[in-house]
Amino acid sequence: MQYEGTLYRPPSEARSLIIQATIGCAHNTCTFCNMYLGKKFRIRKTEEIIADIEEAAFSRYASYIDRVFLADGDALVMPTERLLEILRAVKGLLPQVKRVTSYGTAQDVLRKTDEELKLLYENGLDMVYLGAESGDDEILKAVKKDMTADEMAEAGQKLKKSGILCSVTFISGLGGKEMIEAHAMKSALLTNRMQPAYASFLTLQIVEGTPMYEDLRSGRFQRITTEECVKEMQTYLSHVDSEGTVFRMNHASNCFRLAGTLNVDIPAMQKVLSEVESGERYARRMGEIEVL
Ligand code: SF4
Repeated sequence: MQYEGTLYRPPSEARSLIIQATIGCAHNTCTFCNMYLGKKFRIRKTEEIIADIEEAAFSRYASYIDRVFLADGDALVMPTERLLEILRAVKGLLPQVKRVTSYGTAQDVLRKTDEELKLLYENGLDMVYLGAESGDDEILKAVKKDMTADEMAEAGQKLKKSGILCSVTFISGLGGKEMIEAHAMKSALLTNRMQPAYASFLTLQIVEGTPMYEDLRSGRFQRITTEECVKEMQTYLSHVDSEGTVFRMNHASNCFRLAGTLNVDIPAMQKVLSEVESGERYARRMGEIEVL
């Protein structure tokens, strides 16, 4: 298996075979992200990718592989024909695989036609992890996401139409102290427009070497507190309306945990927030998740 550099994957892909279809992230400008700063983006040669799939298929672990995650940062950026070759190789060599997923940006989705997305779905692409980060355009511009909430909503709707599930991620605290309300409310409204299969919140981690780290050091950006994080989630949950979406805030970065299905579990999750607010339930202090 020819892996290059550090590999990142969503928590739910912990047991998946990771196939590195691309190296790095084609976007690579988000001010908070250091994941692929050291990698120059490129698409790997198809024969190299297929050689990795063959190696896994003929290994002694082959029978345990039932999920495949296509890395790195946005494997969906690959031309559709090449993605189809990979999906067909997975199907042919690892027929027991039940789920193939990848990261993708809204632009990657919008660049593909409805027919292309449908073909990817029919050939085994089950889900795309889409990092929306926020539903607020001002925040998206400030963090150089280079996408609007309208584009994210359109991408989510397009995926849904094709049959490919969408798992959308937001980042708690991304608007800093000044944009708590707007970030929470607009992220809820974006969720409502996307109606994704999954929605989750990570908590902002500010890492040395990123532009956001410099903003924090200079005082241009101020981190929110745990209490403000609770308020942010209270606002999100009071505006979100996405029946059946599985909601998770249980990543290692989060200072408290929330999990449920929208909309039915909103009251239970609001109760958890009240308990965190009153101190009845443990929450890690934001200061404990120090600048790395
Ligand atoms: S957050 Fe996602 S799109 Fe932005 S640079 Fe990091 S991997 Fe790329």
